[in-house]
Amino acid sequence: ARAQIAEIEKARTLNAFLAETPDKALAMAAASDTRIAKGEAGPLEGIPLGIKDLYCTEGVPTTAASHILEGFTPAYESTVSANLWRDGAVMLGKLNLDEFAMGSSNETSYFGPVISPWRRNGSDAPLVPGGSSGGSAAAVAARLCFGATATDTGGSIRQPAAFTGTVGVKPTYGRCSRWGIIAFASSLDQAGPIARTVQDAAILLRSMAGHDPKDTTSVDAPVPNYEAALGRGVKGLKIGIPKEYRLDGIPAEIDALWRQGVEWLKEAGAVIVDISLPHTRYALPAYYIVAPAEASSNLARYDGVRYGLRVPGKDIIGMYEATRAAGFGKEVRRRIMIGAYVLSAGYYDAYYVRAQKIRTLIKRDFERAYAEGVDAILTPATPSAAFGLGEKGSADPVEMYLNDVFTVTVNMAGLPGLAVPAGASSEGLPLGLQLIGRPFDEETLFAVAKVIE
Ligand code: GLN
Repeated sequence: ARAQIAEIEKARTLNAFLAETPDKALAMAAASDTRIAKGEAGPLEGIPLGIKDLYCTEGVPTTAASHILEGFTPAYESTVSANLWRDGAVMLGKLNLDEFAMGSSNETSYFGPVISPWRRNGSDAPLVPGGSSGGSAAAVAARLCFGATATDTGGSIRQPAAFTGTVGVKPTYGRCSRWGIIAFASSLDQAGPIARTVQDAAILLRSMAGHDPKDTTSVDAPVPNYEAALGRGVKGLKIGIPKEYRLDGIPAEIDALWRQGVEWLKEAGAVIVDISLPHTRYALPAYYIVAPAEASSNLARYDGVRYGLRVPGKDIIGMYEATRAAGFGKEVRRRIMIGAYVLSAGYYDAYYVRAQKIRTLIKRDFERAYAEGVDAILTPATPSAAFGLGEKGSADPVEMYLNDVFTVTVNMAGLPGLAVPAGASSEGLPLGLQLIGRPFDEETLFAVAKVIE
């Protein structure tokens, strides 16, 4: 823990940590030493981790990277982080993110962007780590922690993992408890790990996952020993290649990476099959209706009364307005407005109900493929390598949203997805492949990722 604390201090320019908790880390590490000496070590005993600042941590300020939560210190611990501490992990601090996890570059944080530890060959220009779990990905890639918690509503674990050469797992919806994690879009949000290796991710997920009576959407199913699945290999597994992911305008190197992935799996004994997921092209627009709709509802609670920031106004309505105007950043305000619009009388059927219908069709596409015997699906994780700071989305938010084209379908269908580093771009940046699995079959994803890694 002491060595990691020193590394974090050296790497402050990355802006990965919003809060460092060295005293807590040393106390937890000392408790770990005691348990180890007594022969009572847990599966994560003494392992130093970072926690995305969307997870409530008891007695440690939690911000969601928003001004509106200024001064909020939770009196409770999220179930997922509590599970990690139960198993002996040590908390190093809270990690930066896009404000309320809305973004794909970590540039919407009220506390400033996270800088990726990576650079293009021969260039010093700062790059984004991806988002919204940019702090988690940068901290793991820069070796500031052994692993980190993250959340994925529409790619926020897998895209930053792909951008930073780390492994990110978005489990099946319901695999991890959402209790104590600040809600963005409740029907899409899922907790998961970002780690250095497939094995580390498997070990972390086993501790994070599990039924929680405090979250009615968490599923009461046994959590497998994911690490034990790593050696299974892919012999005889049917891996689907969806033709709709072959998008026009995708860089040749992304396509080449995908083909390389297919070759590796073939050589390892997998059976490669072409599949069709015909509603893929509607996933992104439908996601950007459903996610803001749920966000506008979830974010209604930040009114200056219950949590954090309060800006006085001439009456109570004035106080609400002043607090929300000062407290939310531009992207969050945009999402609230889109959400309120698509839920409003007269537009509800045209937008929200339609998006929900599309969601069902997307889900059925996957069900059909799995019913035909497909065990997992292989796609690129992102349409490009990491981009430069300030390079995308400032004039046109849709340019940023397009980054999520390969990841959002998985959330819409509630399926597990995993991003694994698989190669490098011509400029020397990491590129990742994505694996999509059957519901609650994260084990197969770990086994296949282990072959690609
Ligand atoms: N980029 C997506 C969005 O902004 C992803 C968010 C997420 O997964 N938290 O909505």
